[in-house]
Amino acid sequence: MDPAPSIVDVGYRSTHYWVVSAGRSRLLVDLGWPGTLGLMRSRLERMDVPLAEVRYGLATHYHPDHAGLAEELKRAGVPLLVLAPQVPAIGRLKDQVKPEDGYVEIRPEGNVEISFEESRSVLAEIGIAGEIVPTPGHSDDSVSLVLDDGSAFTGDLPLPGLGFGDDEALVQASWARLRALGATRAYPGHGPIHDLEGPALH
Ligand SMILES: [Zn+2]
Repeated sequence: MDPAPSIVDVGYRSTHYWVVSAGRSRLLVDLGWPGTLGLMRSRLERMDVPLAEVRYGLATHYHPDHAGLAEELKRAGVPLLVLAPQVPAIGRLKDQVKPEDGYVEIRPEGNVEISFEESRSVLAEIGIAGEIVPTPGHSDDSVSLVLDDGSAFTGDLPLPGLGFGDDEALVQASWARLRALGATRAYPGHGPIHDLEGPALH
């Protein structure tokens, strides 16, 4: 069996950007604030992650702090994995940024649109055992990456009862889906890594 992938945080400005690596084959989960490509490059360098080894970028959802560099990363050679519910959300991202943020609008070229069902085989091609599943609640386009070792990359899915303006029923259902898939440990977009079991979630 393949060893479990390694997980490294290249985040900044209170946001985690997770690099999941199977050897030198890597997936970047969440894609930087708009206008921060230099910062992202230096964080990757510092954590010994050559950009050329990043096989795909995945945004857990299309809010500025999670997908702000998607287009620039694509132009730097990192194809963007896009799940079906994310397609309409991509176009709305430009309405959430100010001109001075330096956001580069995401174009369709270089987007790799896949279905949730296909995600396991697409990830397997880059040596990562896991799948991408819909986890709405914070936003309609929110997805999570769940590795077979139990690690789940949950973006901004809030803990049950702790969301602000998030859809609580959807939030609960999304956590239930993650637990049903065997997720044991959540790597969120902000804040500490936490276990899925435990009093806070029951
Ligand atoms: Zn968000």
